Amino acid sequence: MMLEVRGIQKSFAGFQAVNGANLDVAEGEIVAVIGPNGAGKTTLFNLITGILTPDGGQVIFKGEDITGLPAHRTCKKGITRSFQVVNIFSRLTVFENVRIAVLSQQGRTFNLFTPSKRLATKETAEILESVGLIRKKDSVCGALSHGEQKVLEIAIALGGKPELLILDEPTAGMSPEETARCIDLIKQLRTNMGLTILFCEHDMEIVFGIANRIMVMVRGVTIIQGACDEVRCNQAVQDAYLGGSDVCSV
Ligand code: ADP
Ligand code: MG
Repeated sequence: MMLEVRGIQKSFAGFQAVNGANLDVAEGEIVAVIGPNGAGKTTLFNLITGILTPDGGQVIFKGEDITGLPAHRTCKKGITRSFQVVNIFSRLTVFENVRIAVLSQQGRTFNLFTPSKRLATKETAEILESVGLIRKKDSVCGALSHGEQKVLEIAIALGGKPELLILDEPTAGMSPEETARCIDLIKQLRTNMGLTILFCEHDMEIVFGIANRIMVMVRGVTIIQGACDEVRCNQAVQDAYLGGSDVCSV
């Protein structure tokens, strides 16, 4: 397994937001975490990436225990993420936002030598090309549509050269056209760039359309983890999350 999360826990002022969640992600997979609002999905991603420190449990990445490592260290190990809420420098251009991510991954933020700047220029352009934002490279980010800003977040995450890319509700707030393009993009990142992808998402159609495997989380606990069909047909999942409706035949 590329990523193994074992019995991870986090409480906020006595409230158990994540209460022993488990997750496996194999190299090259696209894994979705689903669950109702407040299930603990964002907190789980924060625990994996080191934005939050777990109270208990383990995060193993490529065989190494990275539990509790801060975010800049997990990033160096090869895990980067985007956020549910757009998180960019809105007064900088698209190009500048991604370049900052590339330079900081290279540890060259304060290096003023021209060659490294040129290198970052090429890599930045390649990333923008790969996500379809190259035409917008000189736009100030605040002027982008919401959907474009969400894609820019993915581009910034790619600047960290991840092996495992974690996306928190990548299509939230997108138009149907933007959503369709974002789904294609996520699939391409796996196929063309060989990335392993972990994401959470509300829309079940999107989940079943992209994911190889699904983990279902309810009230901070992993209910089931398995292939799409297995999860779709699981009675506990249908009762707890899919409203008891028969989605097996969908
Ligand atoms: P999801 O992403 O599945 O909607 P979250 O991980 O955001 O769920 O939240 C899980 C629960 O933890 C929610 O009840 C939320 O209110 C609570 N929570 C999340 N972050 C904090 C925080 N920093 N302080 C207090 N409570 C939090
Ligand atoms: Mg969330």
